[in-house]
Amino acid sequence: MKKLTIKEILKEGENLAGKEVDVKGWVRTRRGNKNVQFVALNDGSTINNLQIVFDLEKFPEESLKNITTGSSIHVKGNLVASQGAGQSVEVQADKLEIYGTAPADYPLQKKGHTMEFLREKAHLRPRTNTFGAVMRIRHALAYAIHKFFNDKGFFYFHTPLITASDCEGAGAQFQVTTLPLNELPKNEDGSIDYSKDFFGKMASLTVSGQLEGELGATALGLIYTFGPTFRAENSNTPRHLSEFWMIEPEMAFYEIEDNMDLAEEFIKYCINYALEHCYDDIKFLNDHFDHDLIDRLKFVVNNDFVRLPYTEGIKILEESGKKFEFPVHWGVDLASEHERYLVEEHFKKPVILTDYPKEIKAFYMKLNDDGKTVRAMDVLFPKIGEIIGGSQREENYEKLIGRIEEMGLEGMEWYLDTRKYGTVPHSGFGLGFERLVQFVTGMQNIRDVIPFPRYPKACEY
Ligand code: ATP
Ligand code: MN
Repeated sequence: MKKLTIKEILKEGENLAGKEVDVKGWVRTRRGNKNVQFVALNDGSTINNLQIVFDLEKFPEESLKNITTGSSIHVKGNLVASQGAGQSVEVQADKLEIYGTAPADYPLQKKGHTMEFLREKAHLRPRTNTFGAVMRIRHALAYAIHKFFNDKGFFYFHTPLITASDCEGAGAQFQVTTLPLNELPKNEDGSIDYSKDFFGKMASLTVSGQLEGELGATALGLIYTFGPTFRAENSNTPRHLSEFWMIEPEMAFYEIEDNMDLAEEFIKYCINYALEHCYDDIKFLNDHFDHDLIDRLKFVVNNDFVRLPYTEGIKILEESGKKFEFPVHWGVDLASEHERYLVEEHFKKPVILTDYPKEIKAFYMKLNDDGKTVRAMDVLFPKIGEIIGGSQREENYEKLIGRIEEMGLEGMEWYLDTRKYGTVPHSGFGLGFERLVQFVTGMQNIRDVIPFPRYPKACEY
């Protein structure tokens, strides 16, 4: 007998009627009466359960008592058209094997646990409908990302997770060391002697693969990275993790307009892919948590993003008459409340904000002719705020050295060599993978779109 997942069985439906099937999974519920018992079985392949019918003449009540919520079973039986509402087919059980029962203290007994409760049971929460749906969508999005770039001729370029460059500028870093912390080797002036450390110098976990990505793009033309990044900021928000995955395409010969076109096409492709391949899961999340989810996803894929310079964005915010927690004026870094005002209240569309003041952006961004702004582009989304941050990179060697000196950065010779030898205009951006998953699933908190979230004071499993 061919092994079929519950997803495949339900897809085939009545085409399989009359055939024997062999199914294995976890019990969601068992209910029924003195004559017949119904088990809702789930094997993780789909949000939908397969109904198993146990005739009590064949299976005395005693033999079914260990089939509790959360237990794992193996059933053989005939697939038949279902008489009940809610499913088109069901299995008439013939043989039953119980792999493991789940005692009454199984934490996921009831429906409707809070997300906070489930976060404390993160080792079991993938077994819930909600987290099953989120994880399947997460997988589909990861696949879509690789497919999108591969089909466009981009190369997947692996940048290091351990880095010795402290100039990435994107956030506080976690240090990587094998030095004994209670007995640190010291230099004569009392500072730590990193020459004794594992790499012979100070090292950290990466906050971004971009700088190394630029080395790839200025050789292979079109590259992208897709890997974990680590930020040691104490940001206890629903949009920040200490360990998150980032996708960073970097393109030689792309100006900022090409970069914006790519970002918009890319993100729409991913959302469309999820709508097409994960509709059942998205529908479940839409019906149970976020009734506007499907409308919001369709709205984003069917509308052009607004493209607006930062200076004009600030004007709109100043003239809005709204009392923001953080006041706005030209030169401030936008907070999530400002980004969301532009997107959700003013334009009611995703916005790509460009040409930010150079002071609030990284050293590598290309300076505009006004000498004050840089060719940055942040993509701002409803509910999320910033989902993508990118820019055209400064390709002029002298100007880039000027910025590096202004900011007092050191050890950047390897990076500067891309501008010293055969420099080219180039651009790139970073998409926070979990922010994309958050947008597509409608989950309120980013901690609930990664299997085992890392955030301040939380490092379980
Ligand atoms: P924010 O202002 O939201 O903290 P950022 O400007 O510091 O983000 P970038 O350095 O531009 O972030 O990183 C690129 C992308 O990575 C962001 O647009 C966002 O989608 C994502 N990102 C950044 N920090 C985090 C984080 N701590 N957790 C999850 N995703 C993040
Ligand atoms: Mn950013």
